[in-house]
Amino acid sequence: MASLALKDISKRFDNVKALSRVNLHVEDGEFCVLLGPSGCGKSTLLQIVAGLTGQDEGSVLLDGEPVDRLSPRERDVAMVFQTYALYPHMSVSQNLGFGLRMRGVNKSIIRQKILETARLLGIEHLLDRKPRQLSGGQRQRVAMGRALVRRPRLFLLDEPLSNLDARLRINVRLELKRLHAQIRTTVVYVTHDQVEAMTLGDKVVVMREGRIHQIARPETIYDRPADTFVATFIGSPPMNIFKGKLTWREGGFKFQNEDFSLDLGRLPAPPGEHVVEIGIRPEEIDVGQGPGTLLLAQVEMLSNVGADKYIHARLEGTPITVRAPKEATYQPGQIVSLVIHPERLHIFYKGRRI
Ligand code: ATP
Repeated sequence: MASLALKDISKRFDNVKALSRVNLHVEDGEFCVLLGPSGCGKSTLLQIVAGLTGQDEGSVLLDGEPVDRLSPRERDVAMVFQTYALYPHMSVSQNLGFGLRMRGVNKSIIRQKILETARLLGIEHLLDRKPRQLSGGQRQRVAMGRALVRRPRLFLLDEPLSNLDARLRINVRLELKRLHAQIRTTVVYVTHDQVEAMTLGDKVVVMREGRIHQIARPETIYDRPADTFVATFIGSPPMNIFKGKLTWREGGFKFQNEDFSLDLGRLPAPPGEHVVEIGIRPEEIDVGQGPGTLLLAQVEMLSNVGADKYIHARLEGTPITVRAPKEATYQPGQIVSLVIHPERLHIFYKGRRI
């Protein structure tokens, strides 16, 4: 196991700036998830850590030591990709032992490590099968086993679950979490799936266009997003964002756009008039009456996601989404009263949280 540090990593492919001055520290034994939309540079970053791609600038350190001049093998990191790439003519057991055989490890030790890893992953009964005789989930477990068997210093996973169906993905995700709790290897895991990131990560790194927007624990990413990109990328349905003017009036701030206004009370903002965005998650708004600011909205439609329903409504011209109880029965055109709690609002100035 090892800690990982990335210092000012930049990478360009022709005219594409894939990574711009990326800095990150992953503690020994930590599960770190790189999360971001397609093309944001996650896989490139992982490949730079593995030593499969070279960076243009910056340094990769394992346990505080630069490894930039070391080959992937010398770095002693293991990588698992979306495509499992098992050797089809070899049994599960031979697939698991392949890397160790290549390193000239003693046969009895290989046997012992294969059994140990197979037990850890619950695949002992599959050791004599060929990959084609396995399900997708079992193949993925073998691929992880192949990386785990030699207990690398760092475990790098690039969208390892995206070829699995939704239900299996949830199961393997839970297994992976359990496995990590057991072996506590340092993991860097790439995904564009926010639920995967939030459930697996001790630490989540949100990226866009080659830059890191926020590094934090999952609950902080959700509760205190650093900017409007993180605020709207995490959460489903996404956070409601309203653009308008913030003005200081009679001892408190007031938000105003063309359709509605809200009293916000005291804020860490300088007095004066500012253009801001305020954000509120669908579940942070109550429907009905209660202490808070009341706004009247017209229902456009209701969407049902099983455990909850969501009201899609309009505050005059401004669309708003609100979570409602599953038994809610609002009709299109109906007027509903929404309760906004100013203390639950997220306020962004020039895109950044204040
Ligand atoms: P995805 O989730 O789609 O895999 P990603 O976040 O992993 O995306 P990368 O694969 O790291 O993104 O790509 C980052 C950017 O660099 C993209 O714009 C991509 O087109 C570009 N890129 C990646 N590899 C190469 C390459 N070998 N040559 C040219 N451009 C590349």
